[in-house]
Amino acid sequence: MRIAITSGKGGTGKTSITAAFALLAEDSVITDCDVDAADLHLILSPEVYKSENFVSGAKALIDREKCTGCGQCKELCRFGAIEFRNNGYYIDEYACEGCRFCMEVCPAGAVTIEKYENNRTQFKLSALHIKLS
Ligand code: SF4
Ligand code: SF4
Repeated sequence: MRIAITSGKGGTGKTSITAAFALLAEDSVITDCDVDAADLHLILSPEVYKSENFVSGAKALIDREKCTGCGQCKELCRFGAIEFRNNGYYIDEYACEGCRFCMEVCPAGAVTIEKYENNRTQFKLSALHIKLS
Protein backbone atom coordinates (compact mmCIF):
# COMPACT_ATOMS: atom_id res chain seq x y z
CA MET A 1 0.00 0.00 0.00
CA ARG A 2 1.24 3.52 -0.79
CA ILE A 3 0.01 6.63 0.97
CA ALA A 4 0.91 10.20 -0.01
CA ILE A 5 0.13 13.10 2.30
CA THR A 6 0.28 16.46 0.53
CA SER A 7 -0.77 20.06 0.90
CA GLY A 8 0.16 23.24 -0.92
CA LYS A 9 0.26 25.13 2.34
CA GLY A 10 2.66 24.80 5.25
CA GLY A 11 1.51 24.26 8.82
CA THR A 12 -1.49 22.10 7.97
CA GLY A 13 -0.28 18.99 9.83
CA LYS A 14 1.27 16.86 7.08
CA THR A 15 4.26 15.92 9.19
CA SER A 16 2.19 15.14 12.29
CA ILE A 17 -0.21 12.92 10.32
CA THR A 18 2.71 11.16 8.62
CA ALA A 19 4.41 10.54 11.96
CA ALA A 20 1.17 9.08 13.33
CA PHE A 21 0.92 6.67 10.37
CA ALA A 22 4.60 5.82 10.81
CA LEU A 23 3.95 4.81 14.40
CA LEU A 24 1.26 2.39 13.19
CA ALA A 25 3.31 0.92 10.33
CA GLU A 26 5.64 -1.88 11.33
CA ASP A 27 7.43 -2.45 8.01
CA SER A 28 7.49 0.74 6.00
CA VAL A 29 9.53 3.19 3.98
CA ILE A 30 8.73 6.81 4.87
CA THR A 31 9.93 9.72 2.73
CA ASP A 32 9.80 13.40 3.65
CA CYS A 33 9.99 15.24 0.29
CA ASP A 34 9.48 18.76 1.61
CA VAL A 35 11.82 20.89 -0.52
CA ASP A 36 11.98 23.69 2.01
CA ALA A 37 11.83 22.27 5.52
CA ALA A 38 11.86 18.48 5.71
CA ASP A 39 11.46 17.92 9.46
CA LEU A 40 9.88 14.51 9.97
CA HIS A 41 13.20 13.44 11.49
CA LEU A 42 12.54 15.78 14.42
CA ILE A 43 9.69 13.50 15.52
CA LEU A 44 11.03 10.06 14.54
CA SER A 45 14.68 10.53 15.61
CA PRO A 46 16.19 8.45 12.80
CA GLU A 47 19.79 7.36 12.42
CA VAL A 48 21.45 8.60 9.19
CA TYR A 49 23.21 5.74 7.38
CA LYS A 50 23.78 7.40 3.98
CA SER A 51 23.94 11.02 2.84
CA GLU A 52 24.36 12.49 -0.66
CA ASN A 53 24.66 15.97 -2.15
CA PHE A 54 21.49 17.18 -3.84
CA VAL A 55 21.78 19.24 -7.05
CA SER A 56 18.65 21.31 -7.46
CA GLY A 57 19.57 23.69 -10.26
CA ALA A 58 22.28 25.86 -11.74
CA LYS A 59 23.94 29.19 -10.98
CA ALA A 60 25.94 31.56 -13.16
CA LEU A 61 29.57 32.32 -12.43
CA ILE A 62 31.62 35.21 -13.86
CA ASP A 63 35.29 34.69 -14.63
CA ARG A 64 36.84 37.98 -13.52
CA GLU A 65 39.89 37.41 -15.73
CA LYS A 66 37.74 37.23 -18.89
CA CYS A 67 35.12 39.83 -17.97
CA THR A 68 35.60 43.12 -19.84
CA GLY A 69 33.11 45.00 -17.68
CA CYS A 70 30.66 45.78 -20.49
CA GLY A 71 27.66 45.40 -18.16
CA GLN A 72 25.35 43.65 -20.65
CA CYS A 73 24.68 40.77 -18.31
CA LYS A 74 23.56 43.08 -15.49
CA GLU A 75 21.38 45.06 -17.85
CA LEU A 76 19.62 41.98 -19.23
CA CYS A 77 19.26 39.71 -16.19
CA ARG A 78 15.52 39.63 -15.43
CA PHE A 79 16.14 38.45 -11.88
CA GLY A 80 18.39 41.31 -10.78
CA ALA A 81 21.00 38.73 -9.89
CA ILE A 82 24.07 40.56 -11.16
CA GLU A 83 25.70 43.22 -9.01
CA PHE A 84 28.40 45.76 -9.68
CA ARG A 85 30.69 46.28 -6.72
CA ASN A 86 34.39 46.73 -6.07
CA ASN A 87 34.81 47.62 -9.77
CA GLY A 88 33.51 44.25 -10.97
CA TYR A 89 30.41 42.24 -11.81
CA TYR A 90 29.31 39.47 -9.46
CA ILE A 91 26.46 36.97 -9.34
CA ASP A 92 24.14 36.97 -6.35
CA GLU A 93 23.74 33.21 -5.96
CA TYR A 94 20.51 33.60 -4.01
CA ALA A 95 18.88 35.66 -6.76
CA CYS A 96 20.26 33.75 -9.77
CA GLU A 97 17.76 31.32 -11.32
CA GLY A 98 20.29 29.67 -13.62
CA CYS A 99 18.41 30.66 -16.79
CA ARG A 100 21.73 30.95 -18.77
CA PHE A 101 20.76 34.18 -20.50
CA CYS A 102 23.84 36.03 -19.26
CA MET A 103 26.05 33.27 -20.61
CA GLU A 104 24.42 33.57 -24.03
CA VAL A 105 24.80 37.36 -24.24
CA CYS A 106 28.28 37.74 -22.76
CA PRO A 107 30.56 38.79 -25.64
CA ALA A 108 33.67 37.78 -23.72
CA GLY A 109 32.62 34.22 -22.87
CA ALA A 110 33.18 35.10 -19.22
CA VAL A 111 30.06 33.43 -17.82
CA THR A 112 29.73 29.74 -17.05
CA ILE A 113 26.83 27.87 -15.50
CA GLU A 114 27.63 25.62 -12.60
CA LYS A 115 25.55 22.93 -10.94
CA TYR A 116 24.14 24.21 -7.68
CA GLU A 117 24.37 21.87 -4.73
CA ASN A 118 22.32 23.47 -2.01
CA ASN A 119 21.07 20.54 -0.02
CA ARG A 120 21.57 16.94 0.97
CA THR A 121 19.54 13.78 0.56
CA GLN A 122 19.68 11.63 3.66
CA PHE A 123 18.69 8.01 4.08
CA LYS A 124 17.75 7.15 7.61
CA LEU A 125 16.68 4.30 9.83
CA SER A 126 14.07 5.36 12.30
CA ALA A 127 14.61 4.46 15.92
CA LEU A 128 11.04 3.18 15.90
CA HIS A 129 11.77 0.85 12.99
CA ILE A 130 14.92 -0.48 14.61
CA LYS A 131 12.97 -1.30 17.75
CA LEU A 132 10.22 -3.13 15.88
CA SER A 133 12.50 -5.15 13.55
S1 SF4 B 1 28.41 40.44 -20.16
FE1 SF4 B 1 30.30 39.28 -19.77
S2 SF4 B 1 31.95 40.74 -20.13
FE2 SF4 B 1 30.07 41.93 -19.91
S3 SF4 B 1 30.02 42.46 -17.71
FE3 SF4 B 1 28.84 40.55 -17.95
S4 SF4 B 1 30.34 38.94 -17.58
FE4 SF4 B 1 31.51 40.79 -17.96
S1 SF4 C 1 21.74 32.77 -15.15
FE1 SF4 C 1 19.92 34.03 -15.53
S2 SF4 C 1 19.25 34.61 -13.46
FE2 SF4 C 1 21.36 33.92 -13.27
S3 SF4 C 1 22.58 35.77 -13.42
FE3 SF4 C 1 22.44 34.88 -15.49
S4 SF4 C 1 20.69 35.92 -16.45
FE4 SF4 C 1 20.55 36.28 -14.23
